[in-house]
Amino acid sequence: MLSKSRFLAGLQCPLRLWYQCYEPQLATEISPAQQAIFDTGHEVGRLATKLYPKGVHIEEEYFRHDQAVRSTVAAMGTPDVRAIYEAAFVYDGVRIRVDILQKLDNGKWNLIEVKSSTNVKDVHLPDVAVQDYVLHGCGLSIEQAGILHLDKQYVYEGSHLDLERLFSFTDLTDKLFVQIGLVPSQLNDFKEMLADNKAPSIPPDRHCMNPYPCEFWDHCTRKMPEFWVIGLSGIGQNRLCELADMDVQDIRDIPASFPLTQFQKRIRSCAINQEEYV
Ligand code: SF4
Repeated sequence: MLSKSRFLAGLQCPLRLWYQCYEPQLATEISPAQQAIFDTGHEVGRLATKLYPKGVHIEEEYFRHDQAVRSTVAAMGTPDVRAIYEAAFVYDGVRIRVDILQKLDNGKWNLIEVKSSTNVKDVHLPDVAVQDYVLHGCGLSIEQAGILHLDKQYVYEGSHLDLERLFSFTDLTDKLFVQIGLVPSQLNDFKEMLADNKAPSIPPDRHCMNPYPCEFWDHCTRKMPEFWVIGLSGIGQNRLCELADMDVQDIRDIPASFPLTQFQKRIRSCAINQEEYV
């Protein structure tokens, strides 16, 4: 079984998904700063549910997914329930919890993913797409699928928190078509990769920070030199690939003839000469 977060981890890097499944102890512990970001996300998610009244919260923890699915099915069949928070579904080996599933009078549903960001990001498309894929697979008819995010135009005046103005919904339904079509083959790729008991060989580079910093960064980079070329400020992916082709990992080993900016040349010179430049 894959969760949505593992699916997204696999899209960022198959090795990250493999580690999450088989070697989770290699991850760096969550820092207080990261925990604060997660806590903010939970608080935003809690506030968002107030925009969709007459709702039911599926309380079961993530490790009790089967029971959560049963509770969700029961809530869907309850006539006066208008929304389900943390609705649980499973299809094609993927378990999801939908932040808010809104019931419509025409028998259809709205899929609402809550984010504490102030806009929609590229990574949100596969996030909503995999949920839409699972919901369709479970037989739900989805009218709108999108992101409920914060509206940065809203200014809190210090007394009443106006949730209608704090949040803004961006409908992604029309943009999801292509992305949803990719999900089955992406899932197959992940299943094949996870069936192998050997971790895929993927060197760390810029993809490790995009769209989210990977928790296995410290592990994957533990053998990298102190002056690793990825630390060369402003260097692009193409130049990094050229250095990798030349088997150059250390800034000090970059040939003098290699095209660098003045700034990068200064960094290289400081590393070679063990000098500080202020
Ligand atoms: S640090 Fe980079 S290479 Fe290693 S698992 Fe994470 S994303 Fe993949």
